[in-house]
Amino acid sequence: MDDLEHYFEELKLKRIPEIYKEEAKIAAEKKLDYTEYLSDLIEKEYQGKIERSVNQRIHRAGFPCIKTIDGYDFTYQPQLNEKLIRNLSTLEYLDKAINIIFVGPPGIGKSHLSIGLAIKACERRKRVMFYTAQELVDELAKAKLMGHLGRELSKLGRIDLLVLDELGYMDLTKDSATLFFQLVSRRYERGSIILNTNRPFEEWGSLFKDNIIATAILDRLLHHSHVFYITGKSYRLKGHNPKSGEK
Ligand code: ADP
Ligand code: MG
Repeated sequence: MDDLEHYFEELKLKRIPEIYKEEAKIAAEKKLDYTEYLSDLIEKEYQGKIERSVNQRIHRAGFPCIKTIDGYDFTYQPQLNEKLIRNLSTLEYLDKAINIIFVGPPGIGKSHLSIGLAIKACERRKRVMFYTAQELVDELAKAKLMGHLGRELSKLGRIDLLVLDELGYMDLTKDSATLFFQLVSRRYERGSIILNTNRPFEEWGSLFKDNIIATAILDRLLHHSHVFYITGKSYRLKGHNPKSGEK
């Protein structure tokens, strides 16, 4: 038995060591042949490995919380194209490097939907990173200061899906606008971005303190994209409408 434990460890098997004795009993009871017993074990080891890899990807992505598309109440935002959102869960957009942009006021589920879609991507074992726009710009500025902006941009260029949340809440300098442009250019037609903003596109000139850069950013972001304008009520205020009498 010691030998077996040794091989399990060397082969980095995780699930089989936990279940092989129990499975052997079940196999004997069910009169499974050796091949069936072995293939059951291998299948469970494989499923365990996939599960661990998905969890690791979700963990590494750095989501502030876990949200799912199934947990989103589409009846609360009836003007939102549920069919298209559900269709995006199939991740075809990722292969085509199409961007997804959610525009709208706070509390309408921009972060929720983008995390939900990004988790679907993790489940397909895609590499995903979640940043607020502020964190991203800070990270790029730091990399530039340290002299490795190129390396940072390549790293961000290789991720399968980049989620950028809360664009529009922070003060952008012209320098950070240039960094943002470099990132968007790097990913243009190579990898998808999901971007959330409370600022309509007409305001991006003042947001980025430069109309030309804002236009260049929008040009690349929107060329292949799905844009969702969500205009409904904040979900955070659900049940707080004094006139509705709801709770
Ligand atoms: P935003 O990013 O647009 O400000 P969030 O995604 O942070 O909004 O949503 C605020 C809170 O309300 C979150 O807890 C989110 O899960 C929840 N929420 C928003 N819209 C819905 C909805 N339609 N169905 C279920 N939960 C929602
Ligand atoms: Mg949000």
